[in-house]
Amino acid sequence: MADRSVSGPDCPFCGGRIPWPRVMYTEVFSCPSCATGLQVPDFYKRRQQVLTFVIVTVVGYAAGARGVMLIIIILAAFAPVSGIVWYTTRTFMPPPLMVNETVDHSSPDERAQRNDG
Ligand SMILES: [Zn+2]
Repeated sequence: MADRSVSGPDCPFCGGRIPWPRVMYTEVFSCPSCATGLQVPDFYKRRQQVLTFVIVTVVGYAAGARGVMLIIIILAAFAPVSGIVWYTTRTFMPPPLMVNETVDHSSPDERAQRNDG
């Protein structure tokens, strides 16, 4: 049974709850219930990156940074702000988790059938 008291997204494969600390933003991680390899989709990460870039640029510009200084601030602040954006947006904009395609979860029989066809 999935523990509904734990905060986190649901596994798209088995429906089990995945606690947030298990969800890796950049890497493939496994569902604690069914061990399926899961990942945050690229489009979600791109949206987060655009949002991060806008925040960093606006804040840097508002702080008076211009030209090269603004670029340095964007480069330096991107990673930490990206982490903050991930932690603050994931609760109300949870990533639609995807089954990682590089891991084959089918049985050896299914694999053999696919190779025949
Ligand atoms: Zn699962």
